[in-house]
Amino acid sequence: RQIFLNGSYINESEAKISVMDRGFLFGDAIYEVTAVLDGHLIDNDLHLARFARSLSELGISLPMALENVREMQIELIRRNQMRDGTVYLQVSRGVAERNFHPAGDLVPTFVAFTQPAKLSGTPAQREGIAVALMHDPRWERRDIKTVMLLGQVLAKMSAKSGGFNDVWLHQDGFITEGASSTAFIVTHDGRIVTRGNSQVTLPGCTRRAVLTLAERRGLIFDERPFTIAEAEGAAEAFLTSASSFVTPVVRIGETVIGQGEPGPVTRHLQEIYLEAARACEQV
Ligand code: PLP
Repeated sequence: RQIFLNGSYINESEAKISVMDRGFLFGDAIYEVTAVLDGHLIDNDLHLARFARSLSELGISLPMALENVREMQIELIRRNQMRDGTVYLQVSRGVAERNFHPAGDLVPTFVAFTQPAKLSGTPAQREGIAVALMHDPRWERRDIKTVMLLGQVLAKMSAKSGGFNDVWLHQDGFITEGASSTAFIVTHDGRIVTRGNSQVTLPGCTRRAVLTLAERRGLIFDERPFTIAEAEGAAEAFLTSASSFVTPVVRIGETVIGQGEPGPVTRHLQEIYLEAARACEQV
């Protein structure tokens, strides 16, 4: 596969990054993931805006203009002839002698690659998934999409060994988000509920797109925290992310949600999201 590294397209096997890279040594790096459906980037304006924001929050300069990042993403998709999958971007602060204090003149390391995957019509989307519940182990700036993902990795490993597909994290009795997704519930009177954006969660691009589409179709939603008990008693639950679109959640911990199968509001949101994605509708 061809990857992008610091301005060049090269074979993955030829790519070299220094062991002194701060992304490797400190997790001093951010990333971004955009879905590709039928060869088209989905919600990419939102992803590029968040990419720029994550960099700015860490004081790392944009390695190239966003328009050039978009052209590079398209070129990678073309070179790898990818129809469906994801494009991953990562920027670290750069390479330096290992020292907590970064020198001021570092050149960011910019890597991008494609990963083919079937993103729509998956068994998880058709049948729904079971999520484990775990205390949120992460730091206090979850709004920045950094590569410090150990909390999520351990939570997902533990969920999998317990027989769950994924995990929802909680703090102070409230659901924060999924380990790599935004958490939603639907109340018994049909309201869609998801947490408002803050430093407690990553502001999901798919979340934004789904809420915008829901609003356009007159669906009612509330952006507010919800408790574990409220989630367990909800009529429906689902999660969103760039790589899983809208995925029904039919069990939370040991509690079956609703009838134990994807509910009508979730189904409707899956349809309108996929329709907009296929039309490359930028929300
Ligand atoms: N929350 C976390 C912690 C994530 O890692 C992700 C995506 O990977 C999301 C939410 C969903 O964000 P998006 O819809 O932009 O993929």
